[in-house]
Amino acid sequence: MIAMRSADVEPAPVVRARPTVALMYHALSGVDARGQDPHYTLSEAAFREHLEQIASHSGGGTSARDWLVSNSGVGAVITFDDGHLSNHRAALPALCEFGMRADFFVNPATVGRPGFVDWADLREMSASGMSIQSHGYDHRFLTDLSTRHLREALYAARLEIEDRVGTPVSLLAPPGGRVPRNLESIAQECGYSRVFASHPGRLRAGETRTILPRLAVTATCDSATISRWLNGKRSALLRLQLRYHALAAAKRAFGNALYERTRARMLSDHGGTSE
Ligand SMILES: [Zn+2]
Repeated sequence: MIAMRSADVEPAPVVRARPTVALMYHALSGVDARGQDPHYTLSEAAFREHLEQIASHSGGGTSARDWLVSNSGVGAVITFDDGHLSNHRAALPALCEFGMRADFFVNPATVGRPGFVDWADLREMSASGMSIQSHGYDHRFLTDLSTRHLREALYAARLEIEDRVGTPVSLLAPPGGRVPRNLESIAQECGYSRVFASHPGRLRAGETRTILPRLAVTATCDSATISRWLNGKRSALLRLQLRYHALAAAKRAFGNALYERTRARMLSDHGGTSE
């Protein structure tokens, strides 16, 4: 028998979906700092370095809204929480320059307050292709609300953002990443198709889960870290998961109010390097 040459049995190329992650940003420094958390505030230069890293990654950067429509499994999802003024003054121009989009999760109760974007800013961001979505009505943790209040808050937030911005709202990011047990069904009842939480993990091609992970980008997160996340380095993700579960245990043990007070004290004592 004549052995087949390898060229005759060329195996079909194995197509492996690139890992996809959703990045969770908050504020950029250099713009009105009122309401910003230094632990989650990056310099504009650092953010632009991240965008360069994302641009070189397969699929580039896009909003969760657009990513879910293509559901292709490629590209990094870029999100911002809280609606800080720097989202409009610094993040928007940088994203436009790189030809990228992002979702901005805002609270109607803080829109227009000192240090935060107003409705005209959000309409301008939406007209530039950005996705304006819901971070709840105010910034109260959803786990602190009764079922009735949770339903009212999520419904009111969606309607007010849709009314003021003029585009559909279908995504929710729970404040502080606190996810009540019944959130999936209540969010769907209130017109949300997906919840972007803040437990670390990857997004999958053809994503069917309602509650999805995001990776929290903090002040010390450099472009090398972003590169490791985008390239699916298991050790980098594992480190985030261990840290997340340790913090989640502390939140459960202390309760939301005491945990936040303790964290705020540690941040002021240690120049914003502790959580
Ligand atoms: Zn928030």
